[in-house]
Amino acid sequence: MSLIRKIVVAGGTHGNERTGVRLVEKWMACPECYGACCPSADVSLVLANPEAMRLNRRYRDFDLNRSFSQVCLDASSEPQQCEFRRARELNRIYGPKGASTKTDLLLDVHNTGSNMGLCLILSARDPFTMKASAVLTQEFDDAWIYYQPEERSASPYFGTVAKADVCIEIGPQQHGTLDARLFEQAEKLVKRYLELADEWNRGELQKRAPIQVEVYTQLRDLGYPKAWAGAPIEAMIHPDLLGADYRELKKGDKLFRTFDGKDILYEGEADGRESVWPIFINEPAYYEKDIAMSLTVKSVEEW
Ligand SMILES: [Zn+2]
Repeated sequence: MSLIRKIVVAGGTHGNERTGVRLVEKWMACPECYGACCPSADVSLVLANPEAMRLNRRYRDFDLNRSFSQVCLDASSEPQQCEFRRARELNRIYGPKGASTKTDLLLDVHNTGSNMGLCLILSARDPFTMKASAVLTQEFDDAWIYYQPEERSASPYFGTVAKADVCIEIGPQQHGTLDARLFEQAEKLVKRYLELADEWNRGELQKRAPIQVEVYTQLRDLGYPKAWAGAPIEAMIHPDLLGADYRELKKGDKLFRTFDGKDILYEGEADGRESVWPIFINEPAYYEKDIAMSLTVKSVEEW
């Protein structure tokens, strides 16, 4: 990435994920809270889905953070869903998605009910977001890197309207609520990204020595056991696995517990892989998406 001239900090992409909502509202009322962090870039703040915030729900008609694929943005008819309309509006203001976008870096602040600490989700192998995130895993006890490679044009996430993005997932926090400790960590973390962007623009971040990081790369989402698509779920997350995000799950380990008390074990992957590292375990917002957890593969790299 060349210089970072335009940064957007977003909250409320999901209306009931209140850390980002309150952080952006606080900074809107207090420009001096973040104004000195990155003098070399223009920093904008946005509350992405005010209608969902008002309702204290994830979304009103459709998940806004699944509305930014190029196909969705380009559809010819005027959309009925308020989130599709909002996605187009955000894309006009901060995009347009693609090579001519106005935004170099988008930091989108989310919450998760899962035990994921400060999860830094990278959608591409972008030099700035990799280096800055690596630095932050050294500075924060509970910061983790989740690499979820996205084909940018097809990706439905808000962050992909920018040249580079980090989706920051903070948890565990019940949706619709706040947690003071997590709020303070989130504010510190976002400020550090801004300061590191300034360090990047001065050419200094690039000169830091390589940092060894654990990278959790997306493998696949795992649904709940069901007799057929649309049937009721037949089991819950196994008690041994609740809260065990980023922990190795091996073939034969307990995965689900049925409603009559039987254990369902992890059987390994179709390609013979026998270990995975689950995250987003029991995320409440993913019940409607039929995702019990996301499986990742852990690697150690130098960034
Ligand atoms: Zn979210």
